[in-house]
Amino acid sequence: MELTNRTIKELQKEDKAEVLSACLNRIREVEPKLHAFVTHAPLQSAGQAHDKNPNTQYAIHNTAKGQSPLAGIPVGIKDVICTRNMRTTASAKMLDSFIPPYDATVVKKLKEAGAIVVGKNNCDAWAHGSSTENSDYGVTPNPWDLARVSGGSSGGSAAAVAAGEIPYSIGTDTGGSIRQPAAFCGVVGLKPTYGRVSRYGLIAMGSSLDCPGPITKTVEDAVMVMNVIAGPDERDATTLKNLYVSHTPGEKIPPHLESEEMKRINFEFTKDLNKDIKGLKIGVPKEYFGLGLFDEVGEVFKQSLLTFEKMGAEVIEISLPHTEYALAAYYVIMTAETSSNLGRYDGVKYGFSAKDSKDLIDSYFKTRDEGFGDEAKRRIMLGTYVLSSGYYDAYYLKAAKVRRLVYEDFLKAYEKVDVILTPTAPTPAFKIGEKADPVSMYLADVFTVPVSLAGLPAISIPAGFSPDKLPIGVQIIGPHFEEAKILNVAHKFEKETAGEEWRKFKPVI
Ligand code: GLN
Repeated sequence: MELTNRTIKELQKEDKAEVLSACLNRIREVEPKLHAFVTHAPLQSAGQAHDKNPNTQYAIHNTAKGQSPLAGIPVGIKDVICTRNMRTTASAKMLDSFIPPYDATVVKKLKEAGAIVVGKNNCDAWAHGSSTENSDYGVTPNPWDLARVSGGSSGGSAAAVAAGEIPYSIGTDTGGSIRQPAAFCGVVGLKPTYGRVSRYGLIAMGSSLDCPGPITKTVEDAVMVMNVIAGPDERDATTLKNLYVSHTPGEKIPPHLESEEMKRINFEFTKDLNKDIKGLKIGVPKEYFGLGLFDEVGEVFKQSLLTFEKMGAEVIEISLPHTEYALAAYYVIMTAETSSNLGRYDGVKYGFSAKDSKDLIDSYFKTRDEGFGDEAKRRIMLGTYVLSSGYYDAYYLKAAKVRRLVYEDFLKAYEKVDVILTPTAPTPAFKIGEKADPVSMYLADVFTVPVSLAGLPAISIPAGFSPDKLPIGVQIIGPHFEEAKILNVAHKFEKETAGEEWRKFKPVI
């Protein structure tokens, strides 16, 4: 098998210089059509990755005992995540020339583990969107059908992994941006619990929702990445304090972290991966079936339920009664936070600055008018409106209350079931240009947004294909900080279906 088709796990025994060369060759081969990267690291060949420039790259390691399994493995980083001395644009013209002086915590941790950052993956500008069509650097098409979108906003990350350019990428998920493109491109995408992975160094979208996480080929690979990137960070006050993630198998947990509560959430993600799921209670929310679900997605979802039942799991219908209000609440809360986060782009501090302005006020207006695209402007206007003094109670406060109800729906459901299973998106990848009106685009997130509002962990895994060979994903949602549980359920499904015909399908690119 080609090196570029392999998983992180399979690459452990390979020569890492050869792995990097294979990835760089694959990138050169497909990028003219795929355009999954906005910026490439200055690596023409494997030799150049050897610590010549300590600011951009770390030395290639061949995996040795006790070393991270990510050592020497190439990775792509979504372009909303800061990389020291490597241009970071958020796929937005406003930041075209921005070179961060620091690494985001996730990037720092990856580099310390020996990962090789090969470049920055394309996405919707500022992570606003569900198709990567909003990128100021052009769309990333779907590797399974180049006339269709790769999903979004982490479309470049998912497409690059599916096309074999890189074995994994780090995306961000605010309302579905890891899970939905993973489903569209036939790869695995994990949105961790809010607070599990540090947001330090992310170009913020909705600060109470943003979660960085892995996009990989398999569930096992997602586990390996989580073992490196998760954990508390003094630079992000919302990371769970005292959360202890062991990086070394067999390492003893410090005594002060051995309380029952801590035991529940302190684990190495690998621990329960192969646990039997016999008797596992899987909840299926009845509300999810009225929300524009395409037949072919419903069909794959039904098949996946049968697979779980065959493995001894029990499928139980549940109700999440506030589901229908989740999308509206999300678009109030997220735009409010977005309008605030985008307030800093004034043409003075960093990034794009408009030419020929009369005075400072004129410069602010021109910079924001020329620097932001339509979608960012739409969200800034909506967010500013819902936060304005006359409307704050009617919109923002109301949405915050709805968010709480959505959250409580899930908590109630978890009294009866262990995990919740839904389709990841209502449709397979749609055609480029098909969803011209913003509201139809927003509906692509109906199944992922409630999970984001509740801050829960969820994973999208490939579950089958539509009759015209487009990948379809299912989403497994867990209780807070129970990533190990959903990774276990996802891994069992992956193993059970490993021999199925659709697993042999290959992208067209
Ligand atoms: N598609 C959703 C939006 O446009 C989610 C984006 C995201 O998760 N970054 O808001």
